[in-house]
Amino acid sequence: MSTLIFTCPKTGRRFESGVDMERDTLVKVRGIVVRVHCAHCHEVHEQSIKDGHLSAAA
Ligand SMILES: [Zn+2]
Repeated sequence: MSTLIFTCPKTGRRFESGVDMERDTLVKVRGIVVRVHCAHCHEVHEQSIKDGHLSAAA
């Protein structure tokens, strides 16, 4: 299981979404938009799954 990581549109920095999924699952739900709390600007960003990427498996 890997954590989905997005890039903050305000700061350009990456943050962990807290959403864990398998790579196979990501392919299936890539069109879905999720609301994720950003650790950098402390706002909620709406991000498409396909705009994120998975961290290396822990
Ligand atoms: Zn942000």
